[in-house]
Amino acid sequence: MKNKTVSHINEKINWKDITPGGVINVSGSAHEFKTGDWRTMRPEWIQNKCKQCLLCAPVCPDSSIPVENKQREEFDYDHCKGCGVCFKACPFEAIEFAKETK
Ligand code: SF4
Ligand code: SF4
Repeated sequence: MKNKTVSHINEKINWKDITPGGVINVSGSAHEFKTGDWRTMRPEWIQNKCKQCLLCAPVCPDSSIPVENKQREEFDYDHCKGCGVCFKACPFEAIEFAKETK
């Protein structure tokens, strides 16, 4: 059976754009894609409970908890996939975790 996704992608690629041997010579970056669209669960930051301990930021596998000047900021929902690891890591109940409603 033909893979529709691959077929769709192939229609957009000109053979002149393909490298010899199909070698991939540039790096990819998840930041170029809004992978947060996959999310079925959503973390919510409860700012007034947050102690800025920063235990949540380094455990996020998608780097979706930005930190500026030693302070965490709002979730990057474009890339958060809703795994819930930050929710588990927060010792102050400053993150709620519920079904995505979008
Ligand atoms: S739910 Fe997962 S992906 Fe989203 S911010 Fe928390 S740890 Fe990162
Ligand atoms: S782990 Fe909880 S209290 Fe600590 S910075 Fe993250 S949200 Fe705030």
